[in-house]
Amino acid sequence: GAQGAPSHLPEKAKIDVKHVILVLSGKGGVGKSTVAVNLAYALSNHGFNVGLLDLDLHGPSVAKMLGIEDYKLQVIGNLIEPARITGSLSALSMAFLLPDTSTPVIWRGPMKMSVISQFLNEVNWGQLDYLVVDLPPGTGDEALTIAQLAPNVRGAVIVTTPQEVAILDSRKTIKFIEKLDLPVLGIVENMSGLICPHCKTEIDVFGKGGGEKAAKEFSVPFLGSIPLDLAMREAGDEGRPYVLRHSDSPTWKAVDSVMEEL
Ligand code: ADP
Repeated sequence: GAQGAPSHLPEKAKIDVKHVILVLSGKGGVGKSTVAVNLAYALSNHGFNVGLLDLDLHGPSVAKMLGIEDYKLQVIGNLIEPARITGSLSALSMAFLLPDTSTPVIWRGPMKMSVISQFLNEVNWGQLDYLVVDLPPGTGDEALTIAQLAPNVRGAVIVTTPQEVAILDSRKTIKFIEKLDLPVLGIVENMSGLICPHCKTEIDVFGKGGGEKAAKEFSVPFLGSIPLDLAMREAGDEGRPYVLRHSDSPTWKAVDSVMEEL
C-alpha cells in the first residue's frame, strides 16, 4: 500500500508473483483442494503463468489430483525445482517432503514456517502471474505465515458445502481472514445439489444456498456453486483435472468470477 509496511513486520519473500490467492475452508472434505487445482488449471488455460502451492498436510490430495504423487523434490543450482505440470503450470506440495503418503506428520509451527518460507524463497517458480495456495482447513499457522511472508496476497477464496455446519465453519474462516487484514475474494459453494447421472434431475443432498446466504451476511461476493458430480470425483482420483474436460462447467464460471474480483 501507499503507506508502506511497518518495519517490524517480517520481510516479504523473494517469489516473483503478481497475485497470491489463498483457498481456504472451515473444515476438511468440502472440496477445497479440488477448487484450488481447478482454479490453477483454469488460470493457466487463460494464458497465465501459475504456481500451485499445496500446504495442506492434513489431506495432501493436490499431488494426487495432479497425478504427481511420485514426484521427488529436486534441487537444481540452489533452487528447488517444482513439478512442471504444463508449460504454464508448476506445483509444489508439502506432500513431496513426506517419506510416503500414508505416514501422518506432525510438524510444529516453526517447522511449518520455515518450510513455507523456503517454498516462497528458494523455488524456481520463474515469473508467476498467480500463485494459488491450498491451505489446511481452519485457522492455522499456514495462512498466517503466507499472509506475513508472501507478496501481493490478494485475498482468500472460501469453499464451503451448503449445510449449516459447514456454513458455520466458513463464518469463522471469514472472520479469520478479516483478522489477517485480507479481503475475502468470495465464497464458492461446492457439492451444491447432485445431478442424477440417469435422469439428470437435481437432488439437493446437502441443501442449497447456504454459501450465498453467508456471502450476503458478510457482504462478500458469492462466486458460484458447483454441483456434486461423479465426473469431478473421478477426475480427482485419476489425476486429470475436471476443468480440462468440462469447459462449460460451473467450476469455470466460479473461476471467471474469481478473476473478475482481482
Ligand atoms: P478438501 O480439500 O476440502 O479436503 P477435496 O478437494 O480433497 O476436499 O475433496 C474431497 C473429495 O471429494 C475428493 O475425492 C474430491 O474428488 C471429491 N469432490 C470434491 N468436490 C466434488 C464435487 N463437486 N463432486 C464430486 N466429488 C467432489
